[in-house]
Amino acid sequence: MSGDDAAADAFALAGNEHRVAILRALLDAHADPETPYPTSFATLRERAGVDVSAQFAYHLDALVGAFVAKTGDGYRLRYPGWKAAAALAAGTYTDQPAFGPTPVPGECAHCRTAALHASYGDAWLAVACHDCERVLTRYPFPPGAAGAHLDDGGVDALLAAFDDRVRSHFALAVDGVCPECAGRMQTALATVDDATANQTDTRGDGHAIHAVADCETCGNHLTLPVGCALLADPRTLALAVDRGVDLVDRPYWCIPQLVGDAHVDRTGDSPLEATVSLDADTTVAVTATLDVTHAAN
Ligand SMILES: [Zn+2]
Ligand SMILES: [Zn+2]
Repeated sequence: MSGDDAAADAFALAGNEHRVAILRALLDAHADPETPYPTSFATLRERAGVDVSAQFAYHLDALVGAFVAKTGDGYRLRYPGWKAAAALAAGTYTDQPAFGPTPVPGECAHCRTAALHASYGDAWLAVACHDCERVLTRYPFPPGAAGAHLDDGGVDALLAAFDDRVRSHFALAVDGVCPECAGRMQTALATVDDATANQTDTRGDGHAIHAVADCETCGNHLTLPVGCALLADPRTLALAVDRGVDLVDRPYWCIPQLVGDAHVDRTGDSPLEATVSLDADTTVAVTATLDVTHAAN
């Protein structure tokens, strides 16, 4: 079977409401300490809400193999089944919450005005400055999960989760691992002209040099201000703490020490290289392939 055939089979398996209900019931059982997992046929049928036993058995059998494993203790999700169920739970394919533009705390990293607004729709979250009109960041966030964070703690809770999620994605991408599919990413520095030739949704506006990462497997393309690439480097974060520079507690789109062009110097053209200054005495160098080196100070 080719990879395409296997993928088509995987979609076909989940293309039925009872099978979706079974995957969700297994995910719920996995997350619920009160429910045995692996889960018995009877418990799973009850939780999936399929009344006719023969119908339930038929659809469960169809999932066993690719998505579900049958063990001596009952049924459990295999990794592809867990991924499919988690995507359904995140509402990637169904829910469509939206809000904004809504005023949010923090100063613009470019003009230092407290005029930031967040908006969310069609699975993308953006933070923009209504004074200088720059988009500070724009990145996808799963809709069902966005709805859950909004219900729990409003826009503040969603922005906190968004900050954590995107930082972790930056860290993976800068290290050459795709945050979407775990495939290999090619990493590089690029000027704004190079960067705008591609999809540049994560870059934010107003930066001369970007860090870019392209996935060889799924085509995922990330572009971020070169300063944000340093957030992936634990030594830089430790150095910043040592220098009294807050890179951790404020959201990544509000880090003027790292993201602003005033703190970025181009130190090589071929290959492109740059330095980013943390303060007047401390700079960090970024190579053409996004390796970070610290000059002795
Ligand atoms: Zn601004
Ligand atoms: Zn990928």
